[in-house]
Amino acid sequence: MTLQQAKRPIKTVAVIGGGTAGWMSAAAISKSFGTDILVQLVESEEIGLIGVGEATVPHISAFNRLLGINEAEFVRETKGTFKLGIQFNDWGKIGDSYIHGFGTIGRDLGLMPFHQYWLKARFARKAKEISQYSLNTVAAPMGKFMAPPRDAPANSPLAEIAYAYHFDATLYARFLRTRAEAQGVVRTEGKVVAVNQNKESGFVESVTLENGATITADLFIDCTGFRALLIEDTLHAGFEDWTHWLPCDRALAVPCEKVGPPTPYTRSTARSAGWQWRIPLQHRTGNGYVYSSQFTSDSEAADLLLNSLDGRALSDPKAIRFTTGKRRKLWDKNVVAIGLAGGFIEPLESTAIFLIQSGISRLVSLFPQSDFEPVLQDVYNAQMQFEYERIRDFIILHYYATERSDSEFWNYVRTMRVPDSVKSYIDLFAANGQFFREGTELFGLTSWVQVMLGQGIMPRSYHPAVDWVKNEDMQALVDHVEKVVASNVALMPRHEDFIARYCAASPI
Ligand SMILES: Cc1cc2nc3c(=O)[nH]c(=O)nc-3n(C[C@H](O)[C@H](O)[C@H](O)COP(=O)(O)OP(=O)(O)OC[C@H]3O[C@@H](n4cnc5c(N)ncnc54)[C@H](O)[C@@H]3O)c2cc1C
Repeated sequence: MTLQQAKRPIKTVAVIGGGTAGWMSAAAISKSFGTDILVQLVESEEIGLIGVGEATVPHISAFNRLLGINEAEFVRETKGTFKLGIQFNDWGKIGDSYIHGFGTIGRDLGLMPFHQYWLKARFARKAKEISQYSLNTVAAPMGKFMAPPRDAPANSPLAEIAYAYHFDATLYARFLRTRAEAQGVVRTEGKVVAVNQNKESGFVESVTLENGATITADLFIDCTGFRALLIEDTLHAGFEDWTHWLPCDRALAVPCEKVGPPTPYTRSTARSAGWQWRIPLQHRTGNGYVYSSQFTSDSEAADLLLNSLDGRALSDPKAIRFTTGKRRKLWDKNVVAIGLAGGFIEPLESTAIFLIQSGISRLVSLFPQSDFEPVLQDVYNAQMQFEYERIRDFIILHYYATERSDSEFWNYVRTMRVPDSVKSYIDLFAANGQFFREGTELFGLTSWVQVMLGQGIMPRSYHPAVDWVKNEDMQALVDHVEKVVASNVALMPRHEDFIARYCAASPI
């Protein structure tokens, strides 16, 4: 083989699957490479989408910006609402409630983050709960929301409100499809019945559809959801099962009638064998119970869910089974698995769509210029492994750091052996409130601090450098932050009024 032959540029990409993962991948790749690469997408209406996945983290706005999406149009078309964070009820113990808000807490001073000064003031009984020092966690329970106004002064907390969205997942896939097709993505309706590999290399050469048509490509993106048709059924990439740390393996999802204004936050309520989500959209409320089949039955789970809805159920609950974990290789040969085909961590912190986004941007960065250099795949797999593991650890924290002992489920997660990484994060924070973000892990200081405190881990002390600041200066900082947050939240409109003005969806 000559060098010329070996360096064959990647000219065609086939995305197999048209859920959120498929359409996000197709739209982003066609946007990134323009007409240099032909992007085809195959999906089967008969199989359909998973149809859940309605809460996000703030990073999605960067993805939408890359595609040139207008925010108001996107929220309107997906009947979306805005999200300042997640309210966790009954997690540390029954009756507890805290919000994990996006954005920052307070204002850092010198080398120390704000929460270190707050800890000292709190020990002296001169500080309120940590939630009172962050705009998001004060505004959310009051039902207030606004996107940062263009004319907000740079040093105002209003200038940097961090937020994400709730949206109808099926409408989001449809919305992306329209854009992707306008960019040149070619969609084929049909069910893949065979995946054809090169006999020598094992690379996937084509897929055959039920009607006999064949789609060939240089690179395949497996977005077939839990079916994992290419990455697992064909390439046998293997699966790392994390059920022993995250034992929930089933979900029931049901929409219900909306009974009040949409809250600008997701709600997660801990239940006897898992937790229940509540996601407000403009036209309905999404609900679900994520539970462990080791600790409750499907019928008990359905009763619990249906008896705790705000309004009338709009359909029968949809049952979903899953195994928490990820493929050992997310990129194998010329197949990259994105979305549920690659792995799944329960939606407690709304991270699955983020993992899709992160998989796509990494693939674009490491995109093979010619034939597949193994190093690209190795770097991709190592970085994605890190990303998944750090999110996994953050989710484990919510279960492990609990005082709940009212069910077998909680007894199990409270006493299980957790990864050493989780243990060391908790031990360090419990000592003097320190946290160090590792590399580019998704959740940073604000998130870990809020969840550790919310789950009942109160540090025994604070960092000694805090004592270098005079007590009165430290107290002035804490009091000032509280006042600034309260006065800025007072300026914010109600969430429903903001939506009505900016992006109200049609009632149909
Ligand atoms: C209970 C639950 C709650 C969730 N909540 C959230 C959340 O709040 N936030 C969040 O970020 N994520 C959430 N997720 C994850 C989110 O739903 C998914 O990450 C997202 O929808 C992407 O799914 P997907 O595109 O990988 O798979 P799917 O939506 O299942 O799409 C698979 C696609 O593959 C196609 N397909 C399959 N087999 C074939 C075949 N043989 N031939 C042709 N086409 C085929 C299907 O037709 C479909 O188009 C949740 C997941 C679950 C299970």
